[in-house]
Amino acid sequence: MNQWVYLFSEGSKEQKDLLGGKGANLAEMTKLGLPVPRGFTVTTEACLYYLNQGNQLTDEMKMQVITAVKKLADQTGKTFNDAKNPLLVSVRSGSKFSMPGMMDTVLNLGLNDQTVEVLAKNSQNPRFAYDCYRRLLQMFGNVVMGMETADFEKKITALKKAHGLAYDNELTALHWQQIVNEYKELYRKKMNREFPQDPIEQLYLAIEAVFNSWNNSRAKTYRRLHDISDDLGTAVNIQEMVFGNFGETSGTGVVFSRNPSLGDRGLFGEYLINAQGEDVVAGIRTPKPIQVLAEELPEQFQQLKMICEQLEHHYQDMQDVEFTIEREKLFILQTRNGKRTSKAALAILLDLHKEQIINEKELIQRIEAKDLAAALHPNFEEQALQKRVAFLSGLAASPGAATGAAYFSAESATEAKARGERVILVREETSPEDIEGIAVSEAVITSRGGMTSHAAVVARGMGICSVVGCEHLNVLNESRATVNEEMIEEGAILSVDGTSGKIYFGEIPMEEVTHTVALDELQAIWDQYSTIQVRANAETPRDIATGLALGATGIGLARTEHMFFEKNRLLQFRRLILADNLAERLDVLKELKTVQKQDFKFIYQASLGKATTIRLLDPPLHEFLPKSSDECREVATELGKTFNEVERKTENLAEVNPMLGFRGLRLGVVYPEIYQMQAEAIVEAAYEVMEETGTVIQPEIMIPFTIDATEFAHVRQSIEAAIITSLASKKDSLNYQIGTMIEMPRACFVADEIAQYADFFSFGTNDLTQMTLGLSRDDSPRIISEYLDAKILKDDPFQVLDEAGVGALMKLAIERGRQVNPQLKIGICGEAAAHPKSIAFLKDLAIDYISCSPFRIPQAKMSLAQAKV
Ligand code: PEP
Ligand code: MG
Repeated sequence: MNQWVYLFSEGSKEQKDLLGGKGANLAEMTKLGLPVPRGFTVTTEACLYYLNQGNQLTDEMKMQVITAVKKLADQTGKTFNDAKNPLLVSVRSGSKFSMPGMMDTVLNLGLNDQTVEVLAKNSQNPRFAYDCYRRLLQMFGNVVMGMETADFEKKITALKKAHGLAYDNELTALHWQQIVNEYKELYRKKMNREFPQDPIEQLYLAIEAVFNSWNNSRAKTYRRLHDISDDLGTAVNIQEMVFGNFGETSGTGVVFSRNPSLGDRGLFGEYLINAQGEDVVAGIRTPKPIQVLAEELPEQFQQLKMICEQLEHHYQDMQDVEFTIEREKLFILQTRNGKRTSKAALAILLDLHKEQIINEKELIQRIEAKDLAAALHPNFEEQALQKRVAFLSGLAASPGAATGAAYFSAESATEAKARGERVILVREETSPEDIEGIAVSEAVITSRGGMTSHAAVVARGMGICSVVGCEHLNVLNESRATVNEEMIEEGAILSVDGTSGKIYFGEIPMEEVTHTVALDELQAIWDQYSTIQVRANAETPRDIATGLALGATGIGLARTEHMFFEKNRLLQFRRLILADNLAERLDVLKELKTVQKQDFKFIYQASLGKATTIRLLDPPLHEFLPKSSDECREVATELGKTFNEVERKTENLAEVNPMLGFRGLRLGVVYPEIYQMQAEAIVEAAYEVMEETGTVIQPEIMIPFTIDATEFAHVRQSIEAAIITSLASKKDSLNYQIGTMIEMPRACFVADEIAQYADFFSFGTNDLTQMTLGLSRDDSPRIISEYLDAKILKDDPFQVLDEAGVGALMKLAIERGRQVNPQLKIGICGEAAAHPKSIAFLKDLAIDYISCSPFRIPQAKMSLAQAKV
């Protein structure tokens, strides 16, 4: 016989697959002796079996449910339909991974025309009893029978209007009794039958509804977006009801054991007195901050605080806890690892480590790349922000900053995104149906709801900036809203600051680096675990500063051809390559040397004496040629040449296959004066900065595209001669190194020969991949994506290092190079180096550093540490 049902006292937190996250944690908390309302779980296996067997609960399942209900009756002293002490339960979904609000819940199940009277009598509060019953009718009607919630709500609105009342809490027992009758009538009319009075029948139908909800479209969308398998199924938790709406000493709320937005220590959350759970998450009434509970119900607040601490220690993570207080007695309804912003994720892990709740290895392993990346997300520029006045504000639910066009429905947001627009979703409140719209948005704004409302929780989980509960926002319909007198039309550009909760009209410029303390602390820890250093690929002073701020130990690749893309420089470069003779070339080079020297001085000033590798020009020359007759004409005018001259020269230099043509050190062989100019500028700039600042600078000059030792030695000798002349008159000596990129398969095979002349190697895996796989860097994305779809390739080799081919060549080159020169410094500066999967392979190679774009540095360091712990 299959066991389809487990009492809470039978399970544990390890059984998430079978009992779902919520069920496993309820069982665990029961085991810990915490005040959990008693109950049982119908397993995920039962769900899958049910869904595969034509959506029918089997007799065996029903039997086991009845047995569990009986045991629950023994534990609680309450039974279904009892005339004195009726059992009432909640029915909630709970899959292995938390899917907030995606599936369904029914509360107060077990109420019917008889038991509602008993509840009224026992509680001495008929108003409460009828309110509970109408909630059951409404939830059951909606969740189990698919009726519209709005149809139910309309009845309440009409009744309030008829009596001139504004709020639900002004309705009396008689009013709720009337609503109950109207609801039952509505049910009868829509469903063509009576609302089931038998609690067991209610229970079976509710269990089926939860099982079915696994396949509703919003649950499917959520799973797709979060990469959750469709094959897991959901468990159903049936739990004795406790009532937060029993009067002024009752309440319900949701707390996080730490602040989920920023990570600060201490309880963070909200509660409502005299309310049921759904009131808090639905965002219909505005809840109070949890700290107020310390004044309203101090004992319960203290107990809640202690339990949260105990749960944090037990689960070794920040907890998201739902609780209810029924007439002064605290119950814990749920705990789970809390969703948090990326910023909070890092801060919390660091604190948990400091508080010795987790050790250093766990700290390293538990940091997720997405949190690290998001912690580096742009914010608005401080100065620009100060000049602006927000026209609206609300609760800062999820930090970050975003600019985009306002859309008022998930659908129009999704369509706008498909048209290529950046979208801000503006809603009264969000519901799980909006999930697709939220996912495509840069930010989400709502007019209602608190920090634990759906919009807040979902946006935070997805790392999307969000401001909720903007009181002055009045969403009129699906194409416009007002804020006081201002109208916001669909498509209006808004800037949203999720950290301050402020919203502005128009665009605000973004700041790029947010360099946080947490990052510094993490870097210090990571650095202890890996001997491989991380440098930055950067050549502008700004990128160099970013790289160093993000932990680079130096600059691994400054590409000098990038210095010639700007319009004036481009013209000078064209003059150089279109020159008719050496004299003309030397003329241009003289001018270029002055600007290049200044470029290099900036680099040295920015790199603060850290190792700096400057690569000599590596342009596929073809890229710098005029592209059309019109451009030839323009260039001719600018350079004072004839059109025919320029066109002829351009035709001569044009290449069919420029990536395999006139590039890299071939330029240095054919026009030695160009590389000589650069080498002179590099050492002279270093010398001057050293003199001006006193910082020791040791330039690393890197030669690209080498295929042969003689070729390399030839170029080295040519530039070294120029360097010696250039430094001859200087009184101090300058230490410099000349090394090479290893980016051609042949260079790997002859690495031992090249190593005789080179001071260092740096693998250019972009070209090495291109040459090894015969896949063009520029033209192959389509082929690669087809290969990925067909599962011929596992990863894009330009993103994840190809171990079998490129990796094998690198191993060979390292081995051969070090045979000749055991001190040979070896780095990698291709794009793939920083990918976590590449690092898993690179970590075991005898290399000194990897070099990557500045924003990837923290993640590269983290991956190195994670690969080593
Ligand atoms: C490389 O080829 O990997 C490299 C770093 O050089 P580039 O991308 O400039 O060709
Ligand atoms: Mg290259």
